[in-house]
Amino acid sequence: TMAHSKAVLVLENFIAGNFVPCSSYIDSYNPSTGDVYCRVPDSGKEEVEAAVKAAKNAFPIWSSKSPLERSQILNKLADLIEHDLEAFAQAESKDQGKTITFARTVDIPRAVYNFRFFASSILHHTTECTEMATMGCVHYTSRAPVGVAGLISPWNLPLYLLTWKIAPAIACGNTVVAKPSEMTSVTAWMMCKLLEKAGVPHGVVNVVFGMGTKAGEALVCHPDVPLISFTGSTLTAQRITEKSAPHCKRLSLELGGKNPAIVFDDADLAQCIPTTLRSSFANQGEICLCTSRIFVQRGIYSEFLKRFVAEAKKWKVGNPSDPTVDVGALISKEHLEKVRSYVKKAQAEGARVLCGEGVDSLALPAGNRKGYFMLPTVIAEVKDESCCMQEEIFGPVTCVVAFDTEEEVIERANSVKYGLAATVWSSNVGRVHRVAKRLQSGLVWTNCWLVRDLNLPFGGMKASGVGREGAKDSYEFFTEVKTITIKH
Ligand code: NAD
Repeated sequence: TMAHSKAVLVLENFIAGNFVPCSSYIDSYNPSTGDVYCRVPDSGKEEVEAAVKAAKNAFPIWSSKSPLERSQILNKLADLIEHDLEAFAQAESKDQGKTITFARTVDIPRAVYNFRFFASSILHHTTECTEMATMGCVHYTSRAPVGVAGLISPWNLPLYLLTWKIAPAIACGNTVVAKPSEMTSVTAWMMCKLLEKAGVPHGVVNVVFGMGTKAGEALVCHPDVPLISFTGSTLTAQRITEKSAPHCKRLSLELGGKNPAIVFDDADLAQCIPTTLRSSFANQGEICLCTSRIFVQRGIYSEFLKRFVAEAKKWKVGNPSDPTVDVGALISKEHLEKVRSYVKKAQAEGARVLCGEGVDSLALPAGNRKGYFMLPTVIAEVKDESCCMQEEIFGPVTCVVAFDTEEEVIERANSVKYGLAATVWSSNVGRVHRVAKRLQSGLVWTNCWLVRDLNLPFGGMKASGVGREGAKDSYEFFTEVKTITIKH
């Protein structure tokens, strides 16, 4: 039932090139007001079945197109999204709660770039060839698209992460059935409206909206979907692994993180502090790569903490559509409660909350008082064993602790179940190399954060994931390789 009588946006599934209504719908909230503003199809087995069938039918034609033809179509789609960049950014900000500035400068430009990047990279792959002169043989490899790819994405960077999967999947000649997060479905639906104009044949990209446990699981369990690319939580990944096991599916799993930043006493704090604020609080801390454990060497600990907290207090929380706002709304009421509960637990354990939740007051515009907002929160004197230092909080909360030696900090940084991204701050090149090599982390940034070359592998170690994505890695994931031997 609708909480408000205001006109709401009603989404439809996109199957075989057509928008099709669903028999039931899920309410979707505007996180900055708490209003229901959109209804998302509550798809299940039936809808997934229709989408997989459409993708299967489209596969022979799409997979036989040349990489150049597919590349041109991907570039056209990139142009069309870019042409509507502002509308996409507004929609992403409203649907997700992120600031309009972040959506304009990060989410949508990256979605555009994902298509451009894979449109280009698909033209430059080569396969292997070896010679066995004594046997009179040459061997070479040949790569072919796999078939129907199932793509499941989360709510934090909706179009950005969905297109990071769709672009390589279709560039390689696969057809896809995508299932975006039920909480952030709008921009995927908007993208579907551009596919025909871009020249994407019907059935190449199908989008089924709905719940993970219903629509998502139907996709994971479908026998005609041989590969699943998933980005989301570690818990869901375990469930997906279990459910797909009877079919021996190929899985790419991009999961959570508990990312350390290590600040040595020779760090350039003028660079480190603003970047570490961003790495802690950008997108409300709802980025898998966000820093949530900051280890600072003893000699500069008090100075770092003082400057870091003073700067954190300057981050403006408020209406995401206000371009001067730095922190928007969290995704949902439940998520906000969960993030807040971590701060309470830390306090109960004797940690000190230096700013933010429970310490400073949050003044919101009248229209946003029912939104899911929270101040950037800095916690100090928290023990390494505390849940705040072990579990992924996925909100604007970061912990700052002191360390003494390089050896000690490597050990402490590695002592969590996750291994996605780490940041090291030091001007000592030798130390940077030594530490980076020993950190259990798929990505290590030194003296910077979130600088990505899409050519190179992206992904996590330990509970942060299985597999890597990137130019070569995505190409390998989304194609099946064959070794052919010829004797002359
Ligand atoms: P989530 O695991 O709850 O949901 C992710 C997607 O999986 C959604 O589309 C959801 O509907 C679907 N899903 C849920 N249960 C399912 C099931 N049983 N079968 C199939 N699909 C199912 O994650 P979330 O809360 O949407 O996203 C936040 C998480 O994603 C965080 O842990 C974050 O670190 C992680 N993340 C990782 C990366 C990365 O690249 N490593 C990037 C962004 C987010």
